[in-house]
Amino acid sequence: MARLGMREWMAVGRVMANGPLTRTERPGGPCDRFEDELAQFAGCQGTLAVSSGTAALISALQACEIGPGDEVLVPAYTWMASAGAVLHVGAVPVLVEIDTTLTIDTTDLASKITPRSRAIIPVHMLNRPCDLESILSIARTHDLKVIEDACQAVGIRYQGQVLGTFGDMGTFSFNQHKNMTCGEGGAILTNDPDLLTRARNAHDMGLGFRQSNTTDPDEIFLGNNFRLNEMQGAILRVQLRKLQSRIDRMTRRVEVMADQLGWAGYPVAPLHDDGPAASLVLTFDTELEAVQFSERRGARRLFDTSKHVYTEWGPILTRKMAHPGITPWAWAGHPNGPGPDSCPKTLDLLKRSCTINAMPDVPLPIVRYLARKLAA
Ligand SMILES: *Cc1c(COP(=O)(O)O)cnc(C)c1O
Repeated sequence: MARLGMREWMAVGRVMANGPLTRTERPGGPCDRFEDELAQFAGCQGTLAVSSGTAALISALQACEIGPGDEVLVPAYTWMASAGAVLHVGAVPVLVEIDTTLTIDTTDLASKITPRSRAIIPVHMLNRPCDLESILSIARTHDLKVIEDACQAVGIRYQGQVLGTFGDMGTFSFNQHKNMTCGEGGAILTNDPDLLTRARNAHDMGLGFRQSNTTDPDEIFLGNNFRLNEMQGAILRVQLRKLQSRIDRMTRRVEVMADQLGWAGYPVAPLHDDGPAASLVLTFDTELEAVQFSERRGARRLFDTSKHVYTEWGPILTRKMAHPGITPWAWAGHPNGPGPDSCPKTLDLLKRSCTINAMPDVPLPIVRYLARKLAA
């Protein structure tokens, strides 16, 4: 988890001393500046800061006009919000298996496309890029929107380009567990000004009188309040400046550990990019080996990570919304939705795989020592 220090503390103090904490009261304030700096860092046209990664996904789906009757292809291994956001806009998620990199399997993806499919949400899990080349090509062939969920891969690159900038839209999360944080927060990235306008509208209640929102009455629709506040914006500006060096520390440590474990014959899982990896996963031949390895310090078996495994997505598997009348399954092509047996290949991979923490804040000599112990 990303660390906060004196610089973030001072940045928040300055905001508190200077007046309004609401971004709409302070044009050119920390949230506006953070959005510009994030766009610069990611190399995309526009960004929008929002209150969470989930809010980013919902606003992006609304911007792309996804809704009732539509199907959105989502991997079976992701934080529950990737699939939950789809239901919140009235569409239904169709679960897709993962491949040996632990990201969406493009063969299974292609086989699950139906006339109702409207979008794909590839999720770059554990700082691991999806096979974007194949995904973008499938999306073009079938005229599907691509909304990248880069919530767990903020600042990570694929073929040198920042994840979240390949699809129609990309989403980041800044909750406590992500590569940078302000407690809770998120962002949308896009190169399409019309989608950005719609996302702004969606995250700010559809308030056409705001300077930064559209004033075209035909474009305005009812939105939510998913705004970020100025204290969060100020923290994120500092965190963004630290992001690349944090990622560099992660890749260095992953390299050290992958070398040690690789030499010792451990089965390091592949990645869809040849660049430096910021993530380390071992996929064993048997479940038992993974269970035993997960007892070592710094290792975790992926099957044991609760709401990241689709069989643990309680309200999605039971199809329970806040009110029975707004259950998108009622008007979907598959009224039964996914069940516990929908993606057996995913469960098998997760049962046999362990991830090892990249430990960016642990000094390298200690990482070398821990790697030798892990590989022993
Ligand atoms: C964290 C996360 C989210 C949601 O982010 P929140 O900020 O917690 O709402 C979405 N997708 C994935 C893959 C995540 O890891």
